[in-house]
Amino acid sequence: MARYRESVCRLCRREGMKLFLKGDRCFSNKCAIERRNFPPGQHGKRRAKILGYGIQLREKQKVKRYYGVLESQFRITFGKAERMKGVTGENLLSLLERRLDNVVHRLGFASSRSQARQLIRHGHVTLNGKNVNVPSVIVGQGAVITVKEKSRKNPLITAAIDAAKSRGVPAWLSLSGDQFEGKVVALPKREDVTVPVNEKLIVELYSK
Ligand code: SF4
Repeated sequence: MARYRESVCRLCRREGMKLFLKGDRCFSNKCAIERRNFPPGQHGKRRAKILGYGIQLREKQKVKRYYGVLESQFRITFGKAERMKGVTGENLLSLLERRLDNVVHRLGFASSRSQARQLIRHGHVTLNGKNVNVPSVIVGQGAVITVKEKSRKNPLITAAIDAAKSRGVPAWLSLSGDQFEGKVVALPKREDVTVPVNEKLIVELYSK
């Protein structure tokens, strides 16, 4: 499967904002956005003014990178959002929010979405009591996501859970008392999406 292999901090610097791709480091003063908030590359400091198509493109790239989705998968998700009832842009964000890797991260089982993808692929979590190893699965209301019994001492998972305790979980998710099981109690609404994005620009971009 195609994967982005360069430094992910470059992606944040390109978008000029924190995309929270590196777990705890993103909350420390080692964050590249805190130190060098200008685009990477030789001419990075000369940030060119972007207009029209460029603004729409940047908005799409920002969301794609935030959720760690490649172009083809993003297109497929956009197609699904278009076929759903309601506002396409909001449907798109709801689908991305409900990706299993995002849910595992939001529940605090992983410090970043990329770590969540790794945990899922390596079989550390179950979905509704069944084994799952596909991070892009879209979970529905009532879905139960559990860290497997044998993985509960995994230092990556315990460290992520400890670090996430202070941040809590979004209102559309709930955690059970032992912190190793989470549930989708409602579908995420527009206000539950924390990345600052104008999704209408993405719809305009794909409507051309
Ligand atoms: Fe982005 Fe996190 Fe790197 Fe900061 S530390 S630039 S938020 S990935």
